Amino acid sequence: MSEERVEAEVVVVGAGLAGLSAARELKRLGVDAVVVEARDRVGGRTLNEPIGGGEIVELGGQWVGPGQDHALELIAELGLETFPTWCEGKNVFERSGRARTYSGTIPKLNPVSLAEVGVALKRLEKMASKVDVSQPWVQTDLARWDSETFATWARRNARTPAARDLLRLAIQAVWAAEPEDVSLLHALFYVQSSGGSLEKMLDAEGGAQDSRVVGGTQLISERMAAELGDAVHLGFPVRRIRWREMPGGVEDQPLGTGPHPVTVEADGLTVSARAAVVALPPAVAGRLEYDPVMPSVRDGLTQRMVQGTVVKCHAIYDEPFWRAEGLSGQATSADGPVSVTFDNSPPSGSPGVLLAFLEGNAARAATDLPPEERQQIVLDCLVRLFGPKAAKPEKFVDKAWAADEFARGCYGGYLPTGAWLMYGAGLRAPVGPLHWAGAETATVNAGYMDGAISSGIRAAREIAPGT
Ligand SMILES: Cc1cc2nc3c(=O)[nH]c(=O)nc-3n(C[C@H](O)[C@H](O)[C@H](O)COP(=O)(O)OP(=O)(O)OC[C@H]3O[C@@H](n4cnc5c(N)ncnc54)[C@H](O)[C@@H]3O)c2cc1C
Repeated sequence: MSEERVEAEVVVVGAGLAGLSAARELKRLGVDAVVVEARDRVGGRTLNEPIGGGEIVELGGQWVGPGQDHALELIAELGLETFPTWCEGKNVFERSGRARTYSGTIPKLNPVSLAEVGVALKRLEKMASKVDVSQPWVQTDLARWDSETFATWARRNARTPAARDLLRLAIQAVWAAEPEDVSLLHALFYVQSSGGSLEKMLDAEGGAQDSRVVGGTQLISERMAAELGDAVHLGFPVRRIRWREMPGGVEDQPLGTGPHPVTVEADGLTVSARAAVVALPPAVAGRLEYDPVMPSVRDGLTQRMVQGTVVKCHAIYDEPFWRAEGLSGQATSADGPVSVTFDNSPPSGSPGVLLAFLEGNAARAATDLPPEERQQIVLDCLVRLFGPKAAKPEKFVDKAWAADEFARGCYGGYLPTGAWLMYGAGLRAPVGPLHWAGAETATVNAGYMDGAISSGIRAAREIAPGT
């Protein structure tokens, strides 16, 4: 393969929302940056899939909501529009083989379980308010919360099986993981980072699932890439980053002068630059070879930040038949394997699209199954939740993100016990001329598209602070 060589002030690895936001901000600051992307497309964990008739479904990140200001501003700046998530009608909750309808975020349970969930959510919010999202690792007084999982806390704080089921569903919905996987401190960090309310994180109207982007969220990255033009290099998986510590630090030398201490080596492309922004999920960044090797705190962090496991599925019907039955298309099932569904029809309302998530253990079990087997598992659940009309969609599309080598899972990375305090300091701190971006590195709305965008802007400003 012939080897292309490029020189730039800054090289950005990864053309997801974080990498492209970093490059766009650097351009705005007058700094010449190139972006190197492994896939033949931009957008990373956002992905539009055409379904015919000019419509698409989103196989990756899709919702935006109040408080996600970076995302909402960028969407508007790029000339895109949002529309409200379809949610009129009754929701369905299934548990122990019984499906019943309800309104609002929290399903109707027996009063004791409902009270337990309410108290547990309030306790979580109170604890979360104590977390300093910019540096939880210095809060050694929170060691107790980092030494237990969400599951052990939930066992003490919710004694009825129904309340425990609901808390499990909440964890699955937010991290695509099980309560046993996630450090309690990580859950609290995330709640605080997202505005302080787990309930809002689970809400559609007024919450994190409030709105969608007309035409799909991949358009955000496509429009940013169009602005950046031929600075974006697609189809070049980065394998190794060589870097040198500059005497006095590269940041002390004005941009536009001096040596290029960073060499990014991709298949077929080598870029030398004065600084790099690595805008990858930590679990993916840890797979690159670094020469010299990363400090142990950074390497330890990337070893521990696990990607969630999700299969995002869409069953596409001629019409949204559930609406005629007074249903919103939103369902939650404690019986599984599908845990949550939404009406994901396009703005016009047609065709009717039911979105179904397999998350955590359900997704782990389904990821490597033949696609038709996975499809049948999902359709069987949809029939239980929405009746026999759900059995025969016109089309079915899904994506198992854990099988994607450039994502290694989704929605994003989470930390198990003991990792925040020992290794959290390696999440964002630059290493010589290498800077880190990506949704996981954000302090506000960490793990969301909004966090990805702000992380890119933050990394760009670390490199060009006074420009
Ligand atoms: C199914 C699903 C549903 C989600 N739902 C929502 C939602 O509703 N709302 C929300 O806000 N967020 C949601 N998210 C999360 C959101 O999509 C992500 O937080 C965000 O897109 C991450 O952006 P990023 O730029 O940090 O990372 P990425 O999008 O992962 O970008 C990293 C880029 O680096 C590239 N790359 C990887 N390895 C290499 C390499 N070796 N060399 C070069 N390039 C490489 C990748 O191809 C990718 O383009 C969801 C995610 C998924 C998958």
